[in-house]
Amino acid sequence: MQVGKGKSAILDQQDKRVREQLSKIKHKIMVMSGKGGVGKSTIAVNIAVGLSLQDFMVGLLDLDLHGPSIPQMLGARDLKLSRRPDGRLGAIKYSPNLKFLSIEPLLPSEDSAVIWRGPIKISAIKQFIGDIDWGELDYLVIDAPPGTGDEPLTIAKTIPDAYALIVTTPQEVSLIDVKKSIRFCQKVKMRILGIVENMSGFICPHCGKPVDLFKRGGGQRLAEEMGIRFLGKIPVDPRIVDTGDRGKPLVGAYPESITAEAFDNLIRNIITATQEMVKEVEEEKYMRVAIPVSSPNKFQPEVEKAELYALYDVENGKVLVKDVVKKVQDQDLVDFLKEQVATHVCLSEGLASLKEKLMQEGIKVITISGNEHNPDNIIQDILSKKNG
Ligand code: ADP
Repeated sequence: MQVGKGKSAILDQQDKRVREQLSKIKHKIMVMSGKGGVGKSTIAVNIAVGLSLQDFMVGLLDLDLHGPSIPQMLGARDLKLSRRPDGRLGAIKYSPNLKFLSIEPLLPSEDSAVIWRGPIKISAIKQFIGDIDWGELDYLVIDAPPGTGDEPLTIAKTIPDAYALIVTTPQEVSLIDVKKSIRFCQKVKMRILGIVENMSGFICPHCGKPVDLFKRGGGQRLAEEMGIRFLGKIPVDPRIVDTGDRGKPLVGAYPESITAEAFDNLIRNIITATQEMVKEVEEEKYMRVAIPVSSPNKFQPEVEKAELYALYDVENGKVLVKDVVKKVQDQDLVDFLKEQVATHVCLSEGLASLKEKLMQEGIKVITISGNEHNPDNIIQDILSKKNG
């Protein structure tokens, strides 16, 4: 019994450190793809370097446990974690504005196939965020493992307010994977920043001009079809491979090239998109409304008794996803709602001091005064009032 208790206290401490760390980071972007080899790491590195060149404070976290490639791409395999005056480890400093961390130095040897058992993966991911000091950041770019399995799921759960940036190539198979990634994001309630089409067209190695060898534009069409932002296209450019191997990301090595221009455009769109995502919350175009329930379809007016919460993701006045999640009985309500990235919570009348505390934490409170007890109807009432 004692051992169990001690273990859970350690885990609570770690979760607390993870939350503290994440609260100092303005925007978290999880770069994901349906499968490996589409250029996910290349995009993550060039975005991170590009953002840091624009004077943002940036962190780059390589969580691709099966193929960590960021130290190589940055030419920074010899750089080590720094020990801070308070004894904590700090992320590796690549430049004044860019820090990074990779699982690679922890692996036994360069080529070893990594087999991580589930719990170890989860704890490694949490340690990378909670135990390493990242300081204050504008952006944390996360290179996630490909696919929609356990590992991206753990990252999504550990960094619940991360936005997904989905990388695809123009091929049909890759586009099918994008749909899977979109479904994954909906399932884990991760907001999607947008889609990037990599290997879109070809830059001739001789003249440096674009050549339309392959089909392109599929990513853009799909984004339009799914109502998701299209953030940009990056052409096939042999210099990407070369600069990746030499450890000098293209945006820094060839700043005047057409490909660097494409990255500039992508980075501009990412900055705008992150600002828009924040604005959508402020203007209530996007809401995640939490309703305490006693069973999935019954509002629980006595909030202290609620162990279940119905969560509704609302965009432009329409419910996109509904989910019902369990709250650990003694967990603080504010902590729970923050973990769920809720923007609003429905509570019964009264509860003034709780409501005050929630508002101070940036969570809006909707007071339920009528006799409606079905949360689906409560949310519809709220939306029809809002929609005027
Ligand atoms: P992933 O992270 O999706 O597995 P990588 O970023 O490691 O993919 O890229 C796989 C390979 O493709 C690397 O050798 C990389 O240099 C190359 N690559 C990625 N994007 C491009 C591009 N736009 N043009 C040319 N080569 C690219």
